[in-house]
Amino acid sequence: MAEIGFIGLGNMGLPMAANLVKAGHVVTGFDTVAAALEKARAAGIAIAGTAAGAAADRDIVVTMLPNGDIVRSVFAEIVPAARPGSVIVDSSTIDVASARIVHAMATEAGLLCLDAPVSGGVGGAEAGTLTFMAGGSQAALDRARPALEVMGGRIVHCGDGGAGQAAKICNNMLLGISMIGTCEAFALAGKLGLSQQALFDVISTSSGQCWSVNTYCPVPGVGPKSPADNDYQPGFAAALMLKDLGLAQQAAEASGAATPMGRHATAIYEAFVKAGNGGTDFSGIIRFLDQVRDR
Ligand code: NAD
Repeated sequence: MAEIGFIGLGNMGLPMAANLVKAGHVVTGFDTVAAALEKARAAGIAIAGTAAGAAADRDIVVTMLPNGDIVRSVFAEIVPAARPGSVIVDSSTIDVASARIVHAMATEAGLLCLDAPVSGGVGGAEAGTLTFMAGGSQAALDRARPALEVMGGRIVHCGDGGAGQAAKICNNMLLGISMIGTCEAFALAGKLGLSQQALFDVISTSSGQCWSVNTYCPVPGVGPKSPADNDYQPGFAAALMLKDLGLAQQAAEASGAATPMGRHATAIYEAFVKAGNGGTDFSGIIRFLDQVRDR
């Protein structure tokens, strides 16, 4: 069993770390918020006084933090403390540039490093069924695998450092675009007098099918159970979708990629969140289309 450090014990990090404890690993955690530490202690996680304390002398260190600035500053603390040859896995969703910077910091210090953002949300974190999109060397992935296999159901090695974050934002940019397109199709069908169920029955078996229709339909009472059937409680909150769309736009600008639909989707989710809907599931955008009619 491995000695694992876990930094960032929030909505995602706590259940991920708790699953590592349940699998028999020895987990030492750190978070800046006292309430998070309380919950972690109750889940059997030992608590360190600093991030460096959680990272020192571990086989594997996992970070699950809000953004790239915080990940960079936490790496500045933990890289000097970590044991040479150990692996640091950053599972936060952050910008590709920051992911590459922390890879370089770790590698220069003789550590292995993996960017391994996840999909699957809090439900996947609790169930241990997350998908990890991993960027880094095969050696880093091999070293991290015992922990990743406990926290996730699927691990995709996407390439070198930063490739995991690149895969995550490309996927989520497409998801944001496809959700808005799905909502538009159902709204138009309604205006044309077509039943929502009839449209679902057609699209879900035709060329327009996609995850936003088939699995996560934004119309209540249509398709498998989804946040639409629970008054758009998340699920995946619109604020997190906006964060990921923003990261995709940042990467598109830096790399010169043309993403006109990604840019448009970002503007629509920005308006949705600004109107007070950041905590609403991202599929709730279906109730907002009339307000962005002319954008
Ligand atoms: P969260 O805000 O609940 O948790 C982040 C934790 O990091 C908090 O407990 C916070 O106190 C802690 N933290 C902040 N600064 C710190 C520091 N310097 N040192 C130690 N701890 C610090 O967020 P979350 O929902 O758990 O998301 C974490 C990451 O996972 C984000 O990058 C998010 O985009 C990504 N993500 C979230 C979801 C989701 O559904 N919530 C899904 C996929 C990916």
